This record gives sequence, structure tokens and C-alpha cells, in this order.
Amino acid sequence: METVRAVVPQVQLFDDVVVAEFKASLRGELLQPHNAGYDEARTVWNAMIDRHPALIARCLGAVDIINAVNFARAHDLRVSVRGGGHNVAGNAVCDQGLMIDLSPMKGIRVDPVRRTVRVEPGAIWGEVDREAQAFGLATTGGTVSHTGVAGLTLGGGLGWLMATHGLVCDNLLSVDIVTADGQLLTASEMENPDLFWAIRGGGGNFGIVTSFEFKLHPLTPDVLGGMVLYPMTQAKEVLQFYREYARSAPDNLTAFAGFLTTPDGLPVVAIFVGWFGPLEEGEQHLEPVRKFGPPIADLVGPIPYRQLQKMFDDAAPFGLHRYWKSGYFQELGDNLLDLIIEHTTAKTSPMSVVIFFHMHGACTRVNATETAFGHREDQWDFDIIAQWADPAEADHHVEWARAFWKTVEPFSQGVYVNHLDADDSARRVRSAYGPNYERLVAVKTKYDPANFFRLNNNIAPSSA
Ligand SMILES: Cc1cc2nc3c(=O)[nH]c(=O)nc-3n(C[C@H](O)[C@H](O)[C@H](O)COP(=O)(O)OP(=O)(O)OC[C@H]3O[C@@H](n4cnc5c(N)ncnc54)[C@H](O)[C@@H]3O)c2cc1C
Repeated sequence: METVRAVVPQVQLFDDVVVAEFKASLRGELLQPHNAGYDEARTVWNAMIDRHPALIARCLGAVDIINAVNFARAHDLRVSVRGGGHNVAGNAVCDQGLMIDLSPMKGIRVDPVRRTVRVEPGAIWGEVDREAQAFGLATTGGTVSHTGVAGLTLGGGLGWLMATHGLVCDNLLSVDIVTADGQLLTASEMENPDLFWAIRGGGGNFGIVTSFEFKLHPLTPDVLGGMVLYPMTQAKEVLQFYREYARSAPDNLTAFAGFLTTPDGLPVVAIFVGWFGPLEEGEQHLEPVRKFGPPIADLVGPIPYRQLQKMFDDAAPFGLHRYWKSGYFQELGDNLLDLIIEHTTAKTSPMSVVIFFHMHGACTRVNATETAFGHREDQWDFDIIAQWADPAEADHHVEWARAFWKTVEPFSQGVYVNHLDADDSARRVRSAYGPNYERLVAVKTKYDPANFFRLNNNIAPSSA
């Protein structure tokens, strides 16, 4: 499988004086392959990724990032940027070049009066939720608490609150960003609006964000949510029920679905729900899910929002090997459901999961060209996530996901940029940017004409 990369580290790429000068310019650490902490710093969520940067700059602030960008440009080094290190394709780590590691930058400052939060790019969603919920506030965030704020936001950001408050990027007020020429800019509706438009869905193509400012919304600590499990024998009826239920949901209700294996080894189909309005009203909206079936287990009730935000954590631990295929479905027709059930039933690893993230409500009422995130339809982001522990088994599990995807791809329209894997084609990358691709090329050409930031789902500048 080609994403497994085990190369011999290039230990001595620069002379010691050059490295020492760069190191002295940083407040954070500079790691080379022989330094303690190097292997830990180059390890990301997907254990398939085994790359060896020549240097890792563990940045502590905007000036470290500026100095790292300037150093890489002066030495013609390839650059990778790490936020939370969660991206399945592993673009956060490069072979031989400079990895700009933002994970030490974890500052979070809530302004409860203005209802905003400032977040540094090494923060993960669980940390943001913790700070905001202490003031009875929240913004749309990722559904796994250890996912990075940075990469998720720049790709658009799907989450439990997206039907109520829009995508993660719809809640962004401004960023500070270091561009390829080493300048620190602010981007917002008022300042550099073209750049602000592009970073809301265009990924890490335009620079390195040093700070995000988000809107916050009141949210009581307890919401109504959880999961209802049904037997695989009922999979088709459950998904037929689910598609109508999700489609007719009000903005305060989000319903996802998926296939997983319980800790005691039972494959099940599940509906996951979150209600973000008054609790009594929510009970009525959740009743149809809880009564359908009857289910094997009904694990829905009032829970702290922060707990809902961790509900998927156990299914997505660090250290497993992964391969991912994904796309949007605007309809879940019976033929498609049959194919999905057939391939899921044949899954090669009990750890593999298949998920439907439904998008509706506020996030679909934003015009497709208002931000760079262009896929604004009422639709499902569908993910086939192959996961396994033994590296020797890779081919087997990868083949399952590929064959599965090949069968269902004809039903899909576009793909979420943050769910592309390393072997997805240029055609698929382009389809992730939908109707906004040409405008994104123009912004890329203005801010990064030499394609300095290219280890990502790349938008090539027209100058390159
Ligand atoms: C378990 C799991 C759960 C997920 N759940 C969700 C979810 O609920 N909703 C959702 O929308 N997505 C979800 N995703 C996908 C997620 O959005 C992407 O994996 C995203 O890239 C993660 O961001 P990161 O900072 O952790 O990743 P990293 O791997 O650190 O970064 C990914 C890329 O983002 C860019 N980047 C990172 N930081 C910066 C920065 N400061 N400035 C510029 N570019 C930067 C770089 O190009 C980098 O290669 C999930 C992924 C996983 C693995």
C-alpha cells in the first residue's frame, strides 16, 4: 500500500552552523532525527504515516512560524504543517523537509461578554469545548474531541451544531495568518477579505494560521443525545427510517448513522442523535428513533454537551492503521443502501466503521460561493473508515475500502476536502472545491504564487 513510507532519515541535510542559527531564532524546540522527542513529534493519528522530516520546528508563537517559513524558503525546503495531526492522508508530516509543528500552541481565550473565543492552532476540540462550556457557550466543533481545530476549520468543519449554527468555518470571525513570503496578515470580512473567503474551506493552501477567532453561542451544559443500536438484520429498515427522519429534522436536531462493532463483538447499525434546544421539546423529536425497531439498546438521554463531543472518541484512538474513502450523497436510495449494507457486512476488520454525517439546517442555507466551502446541499457526508492494528494486514483492509467505494462512488456528488486520503486523484481534490475552484486558484496565485504550501489537497496557482 503506497501510503506506507519508511525511508532512511536524511540525518545531515545542513551544516551545524545553519541549524544552530535557525534553532536560535526559535522560542520552541528544533528537532533533528537524533534528538529525543523527534519520533513522538513526527507521529500522527494515522499509524500508516511513517515519514521522517529533516527538521521539526515546534513553534511557540507567530514569530517562530515566520522564522520557520523564511528558513524553508531560503533553503528551498518542502514544508508540512501540523495542527492536531489528525488528517488521515498524513500531510502534516513530510519526508526530509521541514515540519512546522504547531501542536505546542494551545492558547485559548474566551471573551464571555462578546461571546467569542481566540484559539491557537495546536488546540484540539476537547480543549475549546472545555473553555467555552465553562461560560455556558459553544461553537460548532469536530465530533471527536482530539481532532485539531486548525485543519478541521480550514477545510470547513462538520459537527453536531452545524444545523443550528452553521459549519465551523461559518463561525470564524478572523484569523492571523503567515503567508509564503513570511508576512503576518489578519484576514476577516474587513481585512484581506479574499483571503478570509479562501481559508473558509480552502484548507492550508494559503498560509499558516497562527490564531483563530470564533463566534460563540449560548448552550446549556446538558443537551439531549446519544445513540440507539439496532441489529444488522434490521439494517435496511433502520436506514430507510433514518433517511426520512434526518431529512425532516428541525435545526436543533442532528442525526448521524453508522455501522460499528460493539465492544463485545456484535456488528450493529446505529443512529446517533443530538438535540440542542429545550429538553422537553427534544424528547418528542427523539421519540421516533427510540421507539423504532425495537432497538437492542437505547443510550439516549440528557448528557453534558462535552460528553456528546467525546461519544466517538473510543472508536477513533491514536495508533491504529487507517485507510479512508469518502463522498457526499444527496439521496440514500434503496439500491445504494443495499450496496452499503452488502459491503459493510463483508468488512475485514471489526474496528472498521461506516458513517453517515447528515448536513441540513443553518449550514445548508449559506450560499455555495459565500465561503470557499461550496458543498452546501442537504446531504450526507459518507465515510468508509478501515481501521486495523497489524501493519502486515494493510492490503486486505485497504482493498475492502477501495472495492466498497468503487461500487458506491457513482451515487456520490463531490467530497469533503478533509476526508480525502493520500491516493485520491486530482479530479477528486478538485471536486472537493466544487464551484469555487477557479476563484481559489486566483487567491492562491495572489498569496502563494510559487506553491510554497503544497503538501495539502493542493490548489495549484496559475503561475506555477
Ligand atoms: C477521528 C477523526 C474525526 C474527525 N471528525 C471530524 C468532524 O467531526 N468534522 C470534520 O469536519 N472533520 C472531521 N475529521 C477530519 C478532520 O477535519 C481532518 O482530519 C483535519 O485535517 C484535522 O485537522 P488537524 O489539525 O487535526 O490535522 P493535521 O493533520 O495536523 O493537519 C491537516 C492539514 O491541515 C493544514 N493545517 C493544519 N494546521 C494549519 C494551520 N494552522 N494553518 C494552515 N494549515 C494548517 C495542513 O495542510 C495539514 O496538512 C475527523 C478526522 C478524524 C481522524
